[in-house]
Amino acid sequence: MFNSFFGKFSTDLGIDLGTANTLVYCREKGIVINEPSVVSMNTRTGQILAVGNAAKDMIGKTPGHISTVKPLVNGIISDFEVTEKMLRFFIDKVHRDSFVFLPRPRVIIGVPLDITEVERKAVEDAAMNAGAREVFLIEEPMAAAIGARLPITDPVGNMIVDIGGGTTEIAVISLGGVVTWKSLPVAGEALNKNIVQYARDNFNLLLGEKVAESIKIKIGAAAPLDEPLQVEMRGRDMISGLPKEIIVNDDQIREAMSRSIRTIVENVKAALEITPPELVADIYERGIVLAGGGALLKGIDKVISQATEIPVRIADDPLTCVVRGTGVLLDNPDLLKDIALPSSQEGINEKRSAYA
Ligand code: ADP
Ligand code: MG
Repeated sequence: MFNSFFGKFSTDLGIDLGTANTLVYCREKGIVINEPSVVSMNTRTGQILAVGNAAKDMIGKTPGHISTVKPLVNGIISDFEVTEKMLRFFIDKVHRDSFVFLPRPRVIIGVPLDITEVERKAVEDAAMNAGAREVFLIEEPMAAAIGARLPITDPVGNMIVDIGGGTTEIAVISLGGVVTWKSLPVAGEALNKNIVQYARDNFNLLLGEKVAESIKIKIGAAAPLDEPLQVEMRGRDMISGLPKEIIVNDDQIREAMSRSIRTIVENVKAALEITPPELVADIYERGIVLAGGGALLKGIDKVISQATEIPVRIADDPLTCVVRGTGVLLDNPDLLKDIALPSSQEGINEKRSAYA
């Protein structure tokens, strides 16, 4: 099956189906889709109104008959039908933009490490229903490590920490496999929620999550900054019900996010503790690599490095590591064959033949 794989067409796709963002990589073209994993629908008719950026713009601004849905939670499909529609929209868009007739694509999709068989099958089914001809699943940290150009097939320990929207995935990879890992539901969205909570507790200020996210991106920092930053925080006063604006600085936002940051750091340490010493020695020498949007939080590399006493580097363009990793695999069928998770379809066939 793999020998004829990816031979003729340049239409095959690599997909990072993230909690926060979905990216699609097309062979020879590179990244063709990079949009939020959000869908807005008319709840009366079930009709899809917008997908991606256009849908994210509607969050918090919808009338009663429109709802915005994030169909993935913690990297796992929580709304199957909407995920399928979102994937179909993106795959169709790639095809529409290429102006020629294209066959149904084969796709590689990254999935979280702690995914169950049922959840894995849901990803496969969603992609097939969305128009894929064949689906290959690979572990997201593996894709991120490939995207970050780590030598994952060598007999050396590579540690990748992918801080996404819903989850942080920490993995040590050697010889083409994940040796030890931790996955925790604390990542970018938790930090946004921390800021919302902080504004409520300290200023009786009700913030929208998108506002909280933009404050995090502007002035959020895991470690003290050389030059302090401040920004206005706009929301609704919970007592008067009227609009209110407060100026906050990076110290306050750091305090708001501190517990979540500590949880991430503690889990990196815990992952090191369960990693065999030979691999820890490699990581000590080679450093820890950060990927995912959370890697862009100012100072996060510094706090992880201080806590572990290991050098930490942020991957180039951390938001696109996973999808670029799937892109490398589109051109490398032998590696794909080695690291792809067994398809649920194959599992059924194998079981059948075993009992035949
Ligand atoms: P996922 O793979 O779960 O879709 P991503 O890797 O796309 O997640 O990362 C999305 C998260 O990264 C969001 O929570 C977003 O707020 C956060 N993020 C993006 N840019 C920055 C930044 N400059 N600073 C801090 N966090 C960021
Ligand atoms: Mg991700």
